[in-house]
Amino acid sequence: MPEAAISIRHLSKIYEGGKQALDDVSFEVAQGSIFGLLGPNGAGKSTLINILAGMVNKTSGNASIWGFDIDGNPRNARASIGIVPQEIMFDPFFTPKEALELQAGLYGVPKSKRRSMELLRAVRLEDKADAYARTLSGGMKRRLLVAKAMVHSPPVIVLDEPTAGVDIELRQQLWDYVVELNKGGVTVVLTTHYLEEAEELCDEIAIINHGKLIAKKPTGELVNMAREKAVVLTLDKDVPSAPKHEAFEKSERVADRTVEITYNKDRMNAGEVLTAIQDMGLGIVDVTTKEADLEDVFLSLTSGSAE
Ligand code: ADP
Ligand code: MG
Repeated sequence: MPEAAISIRHLSKIYEGGKQALDDVSFEVAQGSIFGLLGPNGAGKSTLINILAGMVNKTSGNASIWGFDIDGNPRNARASIGIVPQEIMFDPFFTPKEALELQAGLYGVPKSKRRSMELLRAVRLEDKADAYARTLSGGMKRRLLVAKAMVHSPPVIVLDEPTAGVDIELRQQLWDYVVELNKGGVTVVLTTHYLEEAEELCDEIAIINHGKLIAKKPTGELVNMAREKAVVLTLDKDVPSAPKHEAFEKSERVADRTVEITYNKDRMNAGEVLTAIQDMGLGIVDVTTKEADLEDVFLSLTSGSAE
């Protein structure tokens, strides 16, 4: 058994025309987890997923799925992953059942091992088994795509923005199914530009912005980071120890005259931090804020911008 479900090393992608969509991205997805790839629109999420799916060629770096390198062992890598793409694409003249049978054929699943009806039941489309795909609603099409991604029983499933165009009730059904798959041992990766969605479902979250990985942490830690801000202060005299204050989350002395104060932005702002320091009789010579990039991403993820 491989250690990681997905392993990505120094992955970069520059599209024809010069757009750099991924810039030296490295991370691993633990087996059995629900992993969120979070980032604003244009961050590079779909590019990364499409490289894993074999639909986009990487410029450099390595990726392996279930221990199989996508270059060295593309067939096994492909067989180990099921991808639910962001864009819905279907032949409108196939019925859901036919679409699943066709997909099973493409993956070489023998007839005796096919489970089209079981999958349709799982995504609550059994009564639509023989309907034309063009008569399905957006939410039904997306659930059919999830079933399609599972025909070859891959150990890893990736859902790229699965809730785009899916109403709340169906979204819940989709998540129930995803959680069920995960309980059955399937590693789940989902991309989203909604922080709350990732927070609710994922054990671990990676954040990318402008093609760069800027954080990867267990969900709880990351959510705390979203509420924390830090300022680095250069003081007018040496301090023997970090200045303490009940409202600071953390205070560290990083050099003779430099301290780093972490605070919860729901509870105080940078001005109040500076005032607290000055009230201790310390003069401030310079101020810098930290993790501005992460801050920007959280802002754009929480500003409630729809598609
Ligand atoms: P996300 O899925 O996070 O919204 P994408 O991976 O779709 O981001 O896109 C990342 C960046 O790469 C964007 O700036 C996008 O415009 C660009 N891009 C995506 N696909 C192509 C392509 N086929 N050719 C050129 N640029 C592309
Ligand atoms: Mg995308």
